[in-house]
Parts: sequence; structure tokens; C-alpha cells
Amino acid sequence: MELYSGDARSVKRNDLLNFEISSDEDEKIKAESGTQTKTMAKGKSSPNSSMKATISSGLKQITPSQKPKRRKIKLMNWKRYHKLSVIYSFLDDLERDYPAICTISVIGKSVEGRDIKMLKISNSDASNAAVWLDASIHSREWISTAVVTYVADYIAKNFHKHSKSITNKDWYIVPVLNPDGYEFTHTNDRMWRKNRAHHEGESVGVDLNRNFSYGWGNNGDQGSSGDPSNVFYRGPAPFSEPETAAVRDTILGSASPFKVFLSFHSYFELIIFPWGYKCEPCPDYLHLLEAGTVMARAIYETTGMIYKVGSTKDLTYFACGTSTDWSYAIAKIPYSFMIELRSKKHRFRLPKDQINETCVEIWNAVMGLMDFIDSTKFKFKTKK
Ligand SMILES: [Zn+2]
Repeated sequence: MELYSGDARSVKRNDLLNFEISSDEDEKIKAESGTQTKTMAKGKSSPNSSMKATISSGLKQITPSQKPKRRKIKLMNWKRYHKLSVIYSFLDDLERDYPAICTISVIGKSVEGRDIKMLKISNSDASNAAVWLDASIHSREWISTAVVTYVADYIAKNFHKHSKSITNKDWYIVPVLNPDGYEFTHTNDRMWRKNRAHHEGESVGVDLNRNFSYGWGNNGDQGSSGDPSNVFYRGPAPFSEPETAAVRDTILGSASPFKVFLSFHSYFELIIFPWGYKCEPCPDYLHLLEAGTVMARAIYETTGMIYKVGSTKDLTYFACGTSTDWSYAIAKIPYSFMIELRSKKHRFRLPKDQINETCVEIWNAVMGLMDFIDSTKFKFKTKK
């Protein structure tokens, strides 16, 4: 793996993230160089010094029979993977700190009743196009959640410094589309992929990325499975699951027209687009190939990683009932991509020391795509 190629934004961002407080696991406060917290952003005293002051005053009360209570502080960072509660607290913090541009909503409830939270970042300009980002529809693909939270964080905290191609978009960001599965991967089974629905007795879980309506059930067992015990189980009907229905209802109910749909997965290092349900190229194949290549080039120029670009069926296999086939064909979102993040080497267990550089390479890809979209006059055949 090559290191950074010297992109100024990347290096600066990397430096910014060299700050971490981890308290709940190892009972210690650790502050490294740089700043990341809201306290620092607002120019108040260093969190490092204020934390030490708190600890110091607390220690005066300690007797041999009294231990300090476990600290509840959980700060988001991109140096390790986080549980759902940390992700959701991070989203709430963004809304609290940047209320003019950040709004949290609950777009639905999971099978087990967990909130599916969505962050919208927008300057409320009525002429904005909408961009959708989702992650962890497959719950074991943790790097996807890290990447979209990074993008959310970076857009919100630097909003007025970004180029117009970023600020003239309404960003709809769902970091954990499958919260039940995501929690389950942290508590029970790291390799769990599906949601936690019960269908036909003991079998648990629907593959949410086979549960969308377009091409649902096509190609028999090659594109998905009708067997509830199978890892690719498509569910008893299109949109049978509340998690996929939440995506449908949010996008189709939105007042702003969606122009981009990016669903993040791992681990094949691919940028793929429709179709997944059949072999033929989609009507806008060449343009999507070009747009995908813009992203792949940005990734390569950032870290040297090579992501292949092509249609879903060409680069992987039949995948029927996927969100990107639906977003392109039914929701008429022209730039519909599935991005398979790192890594083919480590599969779903991408080491945490690769989180940050994966986030940076994808952020540069997203920026490149937005610039490309705003500079092209291409007329989509699929457009409404
Ligand atoms: Zn996936």
C-alpha cells in the first residue's frame, strides 16, 4: 500500500484526526496532537486540560474502597470502529453544534424497533440537488459506516470552506441502514450480514440488498435466494422489510430531486452501477462508467488504491433486488453507485489502522464526483 500522495486536504485531515479520547474501555484519558472536539472548534480551553482538571479533582475523593466511576465519555473518531450508540450520539452532536445546516430525522424503525437515523446537511437553498449516502445495509461491513460518518463530519464542520459543488447539494446520510444487524455484529456474530427479521420459523434475517423491488427475485438462485436460511434471502416480498421501506419512502417522498445515490459496502474495492439484475448495460452505461472512473482516479491519486469500475453484473455476479438498481430504475436517480470499499486482503475485518486513509480516499472520490456532475451537461436517458 502506498502512502498519501501529498494531497494537502488529505494530510491536513489526517493530522486533525490524531486526537482521541478513549475512556470507557481502558479507563484512561488520552489526548494526542491536534484537535477534533467541538470544544476546540469553538475556541474554548483545550479538552485535554479540562479533562485532566476533572480527573485531578476527582482523585482527591478517592479512598481505597472507592473507585472512580466509569466515565461515560464517548467521542467519535476514525481510529477504530464504533457501536451504534456512539454513531447515533455523533449524529445528534452534529445537529446540536451545527443546527443551521444539520437536521436529524428518524426515517423508520428496524425490525427490532431501533431508530434508523438520517442526517441531512443542507444550506436550504431550494435549487439544491439531493445526494443520498447509506452504509451498513450489510451489517458486517463496518468500514462503510466509518466512511459515511467521516464524510458527514467533514462536510458539516467545514461547510463554508467547501466548493460550491459540495454546498449546492442536500446531503441525506444514513450511516447505519441496518441497525439491528449492526448491533448484532458487535454483540453476537461479527459476520452477520442480514437484518434480524424472523421468517418461517427459526430462520433469521433478510438480505436487505436483495429486498428492493426492481428485478426482485429475477434469475432464481443466481440473483438472490428464496430460502430464509440463505445469506442472500430476498424476503417474502419486495420491500417486506422496514429498513428497505424506509429508504423507498424517504427518497420517493422527498421534495428535492435526488441526483446521486451512493450505497457503501465492502470489501471488493469496486465502483459498480446498474444493472445487477441482468447482463445488458444500463441506458447510461458509458456516462456512469466515466463518472465512476472519476472516483476511481481520485482514490488512486490519494492512496494508490485501485478500485475497478463497471456494471454490477460485469464485475461481480447477478444481484437482484438491489438498492442501486431500484434507485436508478424506479427513483430515477441518475448517478446510482454501489461502492465496495477495502479490502480484498482482509475482507470484512479491515484493520482499524486503515480506517482513516480509506475515509480520505473516498472523501476525495465524492468531491471528484460532485465536481464532475456539476461540470457535465449530459442528458440522462433515465431522468424523470
Ligand atoms: Zn454489502
